Amino acid sequence: MIELPEAVVFAEQMNKALKGKTIRTAVRNESPHKFAFVGKHSDKEFSRIVSGRKIGKSWSNGNIILTEILPDYVLSLGCGGERILYHKDSTSLPKKHQLLLRFEDDDYLSVTISGWGETRLLERKNLGEHPHISKDKLTPLSKDFTLEAFRDLITGLPEGQKFSAKKFFVSEPGLNGVGNGVIQDIFYHSGIHPKQEMSELSETQIKKLYEVSCRELQKMIDLGGRDCEVDLYGASGGYRRALHSKTAGTPCDVCNTKIVKESYLGGAIYYCPSCQKL
Ligand SMILES: [Zn+2]
Repeated sequence: MIELPEAVVFAEQMNKALKGKTIRTAVRNESPHKFAFVGKHSDKEFSRIVSGRKIGKSWSNGNIILTEILPDYVLSLGCGGERILYHKDSTSLPKKHQLLLRFEDDDYLSVTISGWGETRLLERKNLGEHPHISKDKLTPLSKDFTLEAFRDLITGLPEGQKFSAKKFFVSEPGLNGVGNGVIQDIFYHSGIHPKQEMSELSETQIKKLYEVSCRELQKMIDLGGRDCEVDLYGASGGYRRALHSKTAGTPCDVCNTKIVKESYLGGAIYYCPSCQKL
């Protein structure tokens, strides 16, 4: 699943590979997909609008990648399990795809969705109406994501409700672009159990969690994404995850205790019961 680090990497790579290219043809939903979020335009309208237009700059917002279709449209990708690939020629095109842009130089961009994902076109002026772009969540690594803002979010949690670390990071209040993938290593390196009650964290723990969140997310970006994801050129990310399905049951790198896997809040969590005590 594309999360914040991968969206940043895709946007950077798309700026290098696609900016300035003219779209010759565009095909969307050649293989229809139930959870392809396409927005208000029909696939036919989509093709008509984007053909002949130039690609502008790309940037990320949380787990979404936005690309200018100049001058007045924006293409939205990402948000879930998407394979977004650049192809120098037609020999490597996937058999099934939900989006295929062919450029004037006969190179391509393909998008294949597994699970769910975006191939949405929006008018630039309507970007604020994007249903999957969060307006009020804090975005890690942005200038607003300070230790004070992070602490305020914790101390401002409504009383009488439970907010475990996983719930806090992924859903309520949630951090923009942070999902069940990146939190595993963030919590592990912070020594925080995914079920830890956020309101009971000490100041030292809050500071550590904040610093590790910034450090690990930045590392994921610098290394081209996590090792479970592939980039625009089909290369695996270089960030080696400490906790995932294959390390469950194996000894913790730090203390040798076996890593535990559990189902929790609609997805697997992994933790070291010694390093991440409840
Ligand atoms: Zn351990």
